[in-house]
Amino acid sequence: MSAIELRSLTKVYPGGVTALDSLDLVVPDGEFFALLGPSGCGKTTLLRTIAGLETATSGAVVLGGRDVTGVQPGARDLAMVFQDYALFPHMDVTDNIGYPLRIKKVAKATRGAKAREVGDRLGLGHLMDRRPGQLSGGQQQRVALARVMATQAQAFLFDEPLSNLDARLRLEARTFLKKLQRELGVTTVFVTHDQAEALAMADRMAVMEAGHIRQIGTPAEVFQRPANTFVASFIGSTPMNLLDGHVRGDTLEVAGHPVAVPSSAAGLLTDGEKIVYGVRPEYMSYSADPVDGAFAGKVAIVENLGASHLVTLELGSALVQALVPEGREPAPGHTGYALPRADRSLAYRDGDLVAA
Ligand code: ATP
Repeated sequence: MSAIELRSLTKVYPGGVTALDSLDLVVPDGEFFALLGPSGCGKTTLLRTIAGLETATSGAVVLGGRDVTGVQPGARDLAMVFQDYALFPHMDVTDNIGYPLRIKKVAKATRGAKAREVGDRLGLGHLMDRRPGQLSGGQQQRVALARVMATQAQAFLFDEPLSNLDARLRLEARTFLKKLQRELGVTTVFVTHDQAEALAMADRMAVMEAGHIRQIGTPAEVFQRPANTFVASFIGSTPMNLLDGHVRGDTLEVAGHPVAVPSSAAGLLTDGEKIVYGVRPEYMSYSADPVDGAFAGKVAIVENLGASHLVTLELGSALVQALVPEGREPAPGHTGYALPRADRSLAYRDGDLVAA
């Protein structure tokens, strides 16, 4: 049975903003599912509607096979962690963790024991008497997690839970949270606008735009085979090269260069048709010498990314970027050649991926 199922879920806010537009989604039991998308695409609304904190305008929310669309948040058996953790400043860690159990009228001694057990597990054992104001950001985040874990809900909902942490703590918390979720096996929906976070943590993810889900897949699928040009341009730490092209017999003409047809589109393109050609800078091999099937252009910009350099070639009015390993980067002004990998390049027709 799937843990979370959304059927034609629509949310129109008073004032007319359609935040969710007839959205369908199935999250299987035990999955770590990330919701990713630009600001305002509807991620938080989706999470809050699953939790029952927003009422759906139409459609259904089904949890563990039970239609909960009209059910109050407290009766949905879900636990939610917010961006600001929502800890009670006047309560110590024990009481903060045990709070949901208090709401469920669990006896004080049992609450305390459960809070200590979960607190120990999250490395908070020595901090149980402190108040949130006496904790670091990372420790507060663990208290918020511990509170969720203490409730034994059938699913966890996270709304950008790591966004208040500094970069290093954030990386640590990411690994920690992922490991914890694996151990507990609890279905988790995780909202983030940070694609690195989604790609690193999720079993599967959805990319949203303007109230719609534009693609659902594993991080590898979404990264390597974006279903449309929106996802292609949104995902990736360096943006995908997206260039206008034409089919010319057995090859493509892209930015004035003959390049190989992407393997995924072989046999699916019509001679003469217009496409958008996509290839990530990671999947280009760069050379200072001419290579058949490569883009040739003047090296306009070289950006140092640490272990590699992002090289921008100017081809007339088009720009093509390639990642070049450290030590092999060219100097600006030279002519460079960037050969795309046919097995990693993509063709888009009317914005959608052409693939079998
Ligand atoms: P962010 O990453 O910035 O938090 P988001 O993807 O979580 O954004 P939502 O907060 O779900 O997006 O908002 C989706 C849309 O609904 C936006 O256009 C937003 O302005 C609108 N919206 C959100 N809450 C309300 C509200 N209470 N009343 C009216 N419109 C709202």
